[in-house]
Amino acid sequence: MPMSASFYNRLAPVLKDVAARFGTPFHIYDEAGIRATGEALKKAFVGISGFREYFAVKALPNLSILAIMKELGFGFDCSSIPELILSRQAGAQGEEIMFTSNNTTQEEFNAAAANGGCVLNLDDISLIEKVPQFPELICFRYNPGPRRTGNVIIGNPVEAKYGVTHEQVVEAYRLARGRAATRFGLHTMVASNELDYSYMVETARMVLEIVERVEKELGIQFEFVNIGGGFGIPYRPEQKPLNLDAMAAEITALFTAFRTEHGHAPTMYMESGRYITGPHGCLVTTAINQKQTYRDYIGVDACMSALMRPALYDAYHHIDVLGKESFAQDRLYDVVGSLCENNDKFAVQRELPLIENGDILIIHDTGAHGHAMGFQYNGRLRPKELLLRTDGSVELIRREERNEDYFATLHFPPESMTPSR
Ligand SMILES: *Cc1c(COP(=O)(O)O)cnc(C)c1O
Repeated sequence: MPMSASFYNRLAPVLKDVAARFGTPFHIYDEAGIRATGEALKKAFVGISGFREYFAVKALPNLSILAIMKELGFGFDCSSIPELILSRQAGAQGEEIMFTSNNTTQEEFNAAAANGGCVLNLDDISLIEKVPQFPELICFRYNPGPRRTGNVIIGNPVEAKYGVTHEQVVEAYRLARGRAATRFGLHTMVASNELDYSYMVETARMVLEIVERVEKELGIQFEFVNIGGGFGIPYRPEQKPLNLDAMAAEITALFTAFRTEHGHAPTMYMESGRYITGPHGCLVTTAINQKQTYRDYIGVDACMSALMRPALYDAYHHIDVLGKESFAQDRLYDVVGSLCENNDKFAVQRELPLIENGDILIIHDTGAHGHAMGFQYNGRLRPKELLLRTDGSVELIRREERNEDYFATLHFPPESMTPSR
């Protein structure tokens, strides 16, 4: 089963009650599952001293979730000012925060440096002279260009807008040192939702090679490499999970070998989002309409404002109908929302059991890049978020958007000008 089976088995028996109390639609997340994955990650990488996960805030930007990450000892990866504020509200300080923006503004540099600063991860060599207060610890995002291909979602690094090139990387650190940087890190992110662990091992190998080259040319030492996020989860029933332990063993061996050869080694960071929370969340929605035209449609009370991935990436999200999990999946449905966009579909031509109005549908694996990606197009507002606590209680951790939220940006003092020519 794509979403964590343990979560499903604890959720299903109580879901009717939860839906009756809070009303659908909602995303619900599993504290126990998030903690278990976090602990497994830490355990897998104990062999790399100083290893740390910086949770990618954009995957699930909710303070109640970030509080769990903080308790796990994780830092936060941000790329906007609101994400920085959220991370600080969650109690993270200084080097517990990594700021990885691209196309960065002065306002963002100032926010990154304020309140005790954070680890600044620069996306381009041209930004070096634009950083107002250059920090002592600096990191660059490396883009290998034609040296790496193969990950389908993030595509070909040559076409990716991120990072400094292979040719620029040494010069970037030289210039940073000229601006008084004395501590160094190297970042990359070349995969998204990658299930093949050896791709990630190759990424670790790649960054260590760059570290070796820059250290040699400039006589500096790196404190860390950050291999990014992009660790995949199985959205489809036939997919196998990422082999975390095999990946960690092979990556750890690379760091051990580096230390043996050079007498020191950087530590490793990662900034996973999806891997940590993706399988520990689902979207719960009720079937409200049926329509038989050229196809059979099930209309539900959520729409793409709650989950953009199917429309945006043609992504598969598994669906179960509560109480009908073991029924024959002998109907073919399009499961749709009410937004006036024909790609507002959670599933297209999906084999499902016979669905009646009032049935509760569980759309799997919405724990990362789900609610967070939603929008307000067409006046379709975003649903609430709930958290299933380890003690079995269920807590509202974000209310649903209401009409007043939609209208909030239309309330302001009148302002106009007549432009001069
Ligand atoms: C989106 C993003 C991540 C998280 O990606 P996942 O696929 O959720 O692991 C990490 N780092 C950066 C820089 C990102 O943009």
